[in-house]
Amino acid sequence: VYVLGIETSCDETAAAVVKNGRAILSNVVASQMESHRRFGGVVPEIASRHHVEQITLVIEEAMQQAKVSFTDLQAIAVTAGPGLVGALLVGVNAAKALAFAHGIPLVGVHHIAGHIYANQLVSEMKFPLLALVVSGGHTELVYMEEHVKFKVIGETRDDAAGEAYDKVARALGLPYPGGPHIDRLAQEGEPTIDLPRAWLEEGSYDFSFSGLKSAVLNTLHRAKQRGEEIDPKQMAASFQASVVEVLTTKTLQAAKQYRVRQVLLAGGVAANRGLRTALGERMRQELPGVELVIPPLSLCTDNAAMIAAAGTMLYWQGRRSDLALNADPSLPLA
Ligand code: ATP
Ligand code: MG
Ligand code: FE
Repeated sequence: VYVLGIETSCDETAAAVVKNGRAILSNVVASQMESHRRFGGVVPEIASRHHVEQITLVIEEAMQQAKVSFTDLQAIAVTAGPGLVGALLVGVNAAKALAFAHGIPLVGVHHIAGHIYANQLVSEMKFPLLALVVSGGHTELVYMEEHVKFKVIGETRDDAAGEAYDKVARALGLPYPGGPHIDRLAQEGEPTIDLPRAWLEEGSYDFSFSGLKSAVLNTLHRAKQRGEEIDPKQMAASFQASVVEVLTTKTLQAAKQYRVRQVLLAGGVAANRGLRTALGERMRQELPGVELVIPPLSLCTDNAAMIAAAGTMLYWQGRRSDLALNADPSLPLA
């Protein structure tokens, strides 16, 4: 089964062809990062315009690299939400046009289902499993008993992890997106600054990062008033230590309580080296029988191979979208 995936939910125009939901035949990503950098974040109008300019080229490139033609495809999978509505529409309309023109089934995919299914491109899913989704817009613990059945057991009450990274990076004068820069500085510094950990109520798998973010901003502000300098490496390391400790602790607690066979890491922040290392070490020590799957960096950030992988599973389950498929900026996962 060959599936073409299309992803345009944010600032990456992406298309990919995946075989049997597991093998990547092509994975093309056109990033607009440079165009948004001077604004310090993604500008929706600019994103839509770039998607319009890139989408046809990116899809053609993905088909060529995979050496398949449209008659070989069993389905076209496209991110239908959540994301920026104008950006999503470019992908959804391209997918609908191609599905209609070539008579190929269309499958709408939830962007976060895609991030989770990036793991299928690495290792086969074993149920029940727990996915820690950490991205620019989401921080969730998702429990799955079977394919494409998602139960959100915990989520952020304010900022997403990636959002917190980007805001703290901005306060440290680092370029957008700041996550990778903080990660790099954190490797070089020591977590010497005392910052809070938001555990919330006993037994809760929810997250909160706004208090941590405020604590960082206040610490930087107070130091500045006193004319002192804070070493950005130490601040990055201290911030990352707090984020990683909370994320790993709650993930392990949930994995134990739900007796899962596998833990998956998903989303852009899954590229974080501190998180990858800490989760790996703690899983080995505290849950040695449970498999940890972490996608390579290129499959953690937005891409279309993950959308094709999730789309293939939905296709096998008989899910189809019709040509009335619309972009839904706040599409729910469950
Ligand atoms: P969503 O998937 O929730 O819709 P998104 O698609 O914008 O949001 P992703 O592309 O999945 O988010 O991830 C981007 C985020 O990942 C950014 O906030 C970025 O700073 C963060 N990020 C990327 N690499 C790292 C890293 N090494 N450490 C920490 N954060 C990182
Ligand atoms: Mg992105
Ligand atoms: Fe994403």
